[in-house]
Amino acid sequence: METAVEMADLVQEFVDSLASLPPAASEEDNIDRLQHLERAKRALAAAQASATNAFVEQRKAHEAGMRITTSEQLKGIEAEVGLARGESPFVGAALTYTATALCNVLPNTYAALADGRMSEYHARIVAEQTSHLSDAHRREIDGLIAHRVGKASSSQLRKLIQGHAYRLDRKAAEQRAAQNQRDRRVCLDPGSDGISYLTAELPTHQAVAVMDALQQQTNKRLAAQRRDAANTPDDLDNSDAEQPLTRDQVMADLFVELLTGQTTADGVTAEVVVVMHDSSLFGDDDVPAWIPGHGPLPAGMVKHWLADPQAAKFFRRMYTRATDGQLVALESKRRHFPEGLSKMLAIRDDTCATPWCNSPVEDADHRKPWAKGGTTSWANATGLCKRCNQRKENRGWSYTGTPDRLTVTTPTGHQYTVPTRPPISQIRHTTTDPPIGPIDIAWPAAA
Ligand SMILES: [Zn+2]
Repeated sequence: METAVEMADLVQEFVDSLASLPPAASEEDNIDRLQHLERAKRALAAAQASATNAFVEQRKAHEAGMRITTSEQLKGIEAEVGLARGESPFVGAALTYTATALCNVLPNTYAALADGRMSEYHARIVAEQTSHLSDAHRREIDGLIAHRVGKASSSQLRKLIQGHAYRLDRKAAEQRAAQNQRDRRVCLDPGSDGISYLTAELPTHQAVAVMDALQQQTNKRLAAQRRDAANTPDDLDNSDAEQPLTRDQVMADLFVELLTGQTTADGVTAEVVVVMHDSSLFGDDDVPAWIPGHGPLPAGMVKHWLADPQAAKFFRRMYTRATDGQLVALESKRRHFPEGLSKMLAIRDDTCATPWCNSPVEDADHRKPWAKGGTTSWANATGLCKRCNQRKENRGWSYTGTPDRLTVTTPTGHQYTVPTRPPISQIRHTTTDPPIGPIDIAWPAAA
């Protein structure tokens, strides 16, 4: 029986041989090398898919005898695959889904990946684009596209599969469109340099209607802007006057104003928590500000925003440990996390504390459950998303640690430990204390 150590040795040997390769002598040799390495990556992707599928089947067989509901089994499996590959539970689910499809209903696609004719990205496209079809239809399409494997571009592959799918099962295609409409949603994602992305996934006709309303309002405001400019006397010294707003700026401002009901886009009335060092707020320190769950903002931008007379400002002082910037604890005897403690958690953990999970913090969780004597305290609290919080209640999962470290143990006994300090402290204290070290992964002792 293979042990974790034997497998680790085998992989290490391969990694070492790659690292000790002499530089390729010519341009031709380098391109050859790229091709060989790409082939190895594809074969490795197939081996990972096969291992994922085998793990899923072993776990299902194991849990079937224990009468655990299917939905609970899957939740744990997907998250474990994600953790093992250094990805979020969400990505873990996608990887698990692709692996089981490749191994069970897409034999030609799997073979093409394993022998290097198809990339992992293209194999994923085949799995995703056929996901709404029956197993029989997936197998049929897998055969129908075999002649295009390795030749079609990703977009050609997608269209080819969609064409076959619509022909084979028109009803499923229509149901999918209806499901997409039911799945309409709005989400906020961090961008960079003080910008975030607010995305709405809407039925097409509604999205067009929103854009049309925005265009009309924009036209009105631009017309008013032009009238004002025309009425300004030419002889007035306008050298210091602000540049007229562009069409894009006007439309973005209107988007904020119409949704929040505020009179100007800058006068935000909703509560926005910003964490900022006093040295940045009152001095010239370069440490950026931080919006919990969203990331850094240039300090100057936040100071400019705070100076806006229309914005109401509330300050709350937070005490941090001098050595590494960790927030200081507050003890509470109440079961529900008091508001202040929940806010501190959202600031410390920033996003769900599960390693690699990108979801927002939704729950203040008792690491040691309240029912088992866990206290409502800073020392026993973790900020988690709802899915991770629910999953950790499943058999075999445990979250342990301190305010500074979190260790997640999965049903296979693997442990993942990450440091938990406020991201803003990790920026400030880099010189004395490195931010996030390599993730510690502990393998269980060989059985
Ligand atoms: Zn999570």
